[in-house]
Amino acid sequence: MSCDNKNIEEIGENHIGSDHYPLRDDAFKLSDEEKMKIIEGHVKGILETLGLDIKDDSICGTPKRVAKMYVKEIFKGLNPENMPSMNTFENKYKYGEMLVEKNIRVFSTCEHHLLPIIGMAHVAYISKGRVIGISKLNRIVDYFARRPQVQERMTMQIVEFLKKALKTEDVACVVDAKHLCVNSRGIKDENSSTVTAEFSGKFKDPAVRKEFLSYIQMNTNFFE
Ligand SMILES: [Zn+2]
Repeated sequence: MSCDNKNIEEIGENHIGSDHYPLRDDAFKLSDEEKMKIIEGHVKGILETLGLDIKDDSICGTPKRVAKMYVKEIFKGLNPENMPSMNTFENKYKYGEMLVEKNIRVFSTCEHHLLPIIGMAHVAYISKGRVIGISKLNRIVDYFARRPQVQERMTMQIVEFLKKALKTEDVACVVDAKHLCVNSRGIKDENSSTVTAEFSGKFKDPAVRKEFLSYIQMNTNFFE
């Protein structure tokens, strides 16, 4: 798709997504340090263009800070070096029901406006002989969240990753998230949130799907 200005408005508002991720082949030719240096210059340019006094005590460190935050934190999931390992274990205890990891924190960034997406992911799988460390599920969500993202694509990427790692089709993911580009600008609807879901294998069966969704709804505030 071409990206002229006419299209940019359209793409931005419609949040068109696919599981294709628009990363160039040369994305990692530069080191993190080289990237931070370049981004620092760009952020400085934006602040100066907006008319800010970049020498002021309060913002003189902002370009460097933002560059480091982009490369090392909120967009670190772009780099395959930060991908969680696909290590799995034999299902020795023969647990045959679904495993659900719910209320996984999602901190992502909308790739159309570079504003935060904040929410929860719920992931489930049914073992076909392999199991994965539970905290790995949180790490996988975090990896795909920490990049400029579209929620629909992120949901599908989480499922695809787990299908490969666990060698099963029986994986599902539901994400419920607030997009600050919707909540704080444009239509300014702070109450709305966006739900996306990907159901694969046995989770396409309405009864299995219903079981998964009922676990998500169980009260998890054990200590209140
Ligand atoms: Zn947006």
